[in-house]
Amino acid sequence: MYPIIKSNKLDSVCYDIRGPVHKEARRLEDEGHRILKLNIGNPAPFGFEAPEEIVRDVILNLPTAQGYCESKGLFSARKAIVQHYQSQGIFGVDIEDVYIGNGVSELIMMALQGLLNTDDEVLIPSPDYPLWTAAANLAGGKAVHYHCDEEADWFPDLDDIRAKITPRTRGLVLINPNNPTGAVYSRELLLEVVEICRQHSLILFADEIYDKILYDGAVHIPAASLSDDILTVTFNGLSKAYRAAGFRVGWMMLSGNLKAAKSYIEGLEMLSSMRLCANVPNQHAVQTALGGYQSINELILPSGRLTVQRDTCVELLNAIPGVSVKKPKGALYAFPKLDAKKFNLRDDERLVLDLLKDKKILLVQGTAFNWPAPDHLRVVFLPHKEDLQKALLAFGEFLETYSQ
Ligand code: PLP
Repeated sequence: MYPIIKSNKLDSVCYDIRGPVHKEARRLEDEGHRILKLNIGNPAPFGFEAPEEIVRDVILNLPTAQGYCESKGLFSARKAIVQHYQSQGIFGVDIEDVYIGNGVSELIMMALQGLLNTDDEVLIPSPDYPLWTAAANLAGGKAVHYHCDEEADWFPDLDDIRAKITPRTRGLVLINPNNPTGAVYSRELLLEVVEICRQHSLILFADEIYDKILYDGAVHIPAASLSDDILTVTFNGLSKAYRAAGFRVGWMMLSGNLKAAKSYIEGLEMLSSMRLCANVPNQHAVQTALGGYQSINELILPSGRLTVQRDTCVELLNAIPGVSVKKPKGALYAFPKLDAKKFNLRDDERLVLDLLKDKKILLVQGTAFNWPAPDHLRVVFLPHKEDLQKALLAFGEFLETYSQ
């Protein structure tokens, strides 16, 4: 058979959360091993089920949701999204500014595909949620990473952002609350970022999919509420707070200087119509999700399941010699640092594979999140407390003798 070669558009594209390590875990499962998975932010399989009322809405509407809908999405869903943001102090938007996609993932790809010419740059955090980097590169642009500072509660380093702006920079990505660090940004920090976007005419891409998953009284401030003169594109969806990741429903809302973005908006409308529309039955969950009882609030109470698991995770990680972690203020992840000297670290993927082989525990290496050094890992704290305890005690045991 002649070789069938992948497109060279993929040469600079990487998405290692489901990469070689994930494949190795599946191979071990096929051999009959049970793997403790602390690697993917998928709430439902860990018993964090979607609110019953949104499941019911989908079922009830299924018989009448057989056709395509408007490319941007169902009126009722988009109206609910607009009203939700109005209640958060974001005005001047209407349903035409909202696009519903098959998850935020599809919309991230669309937002960058519609913007970037060859070698146009987007500022993306390091560490990041790696789809942003992959999507920028796939769109022909260039992901330029700005540093987030672990010693400053993982806040973005504003001087690094300023130093990396060039005439080719088109936009800046903020992930708040952050995956993988769990940081939640202050108003002061957000205002500084908005000011940088204003000064350099950058689009602010605000990925706020964890906006309702907050601990210790942390407050999330929507970036779009802080200006009406720059273009802000806000992303959110049903995957995390509403635990319905498999529904594949996300949205993106444009706000601020829409006049200046006329051409970009035409591009987005074209891309949106090219994929016809998002999954229709599941869009019926949006109105009730946003307007209904916010059951996520129970999970993030001090005694709530997510908070307890976060605390267990942080406590056990910090108890391992050579490991330290900042307490996440939001989202579902911890991003611990490993003492590179102590473990003689050179390759974090190797470390994750060694751990998988030895203890049947699956984590993700920090470099998969575009972190430059092989000295961090991401731990998902969705498993039950007992499973987290088992996994992290075994991780500690594994590290006792580990050296690369
Ligand atoms: N943005 C961030 C920061 C995420 O962590 C994720 C998923 O983990 C996504 C976007 C993608 O979400 P969706 O399920 O809506 O495609």
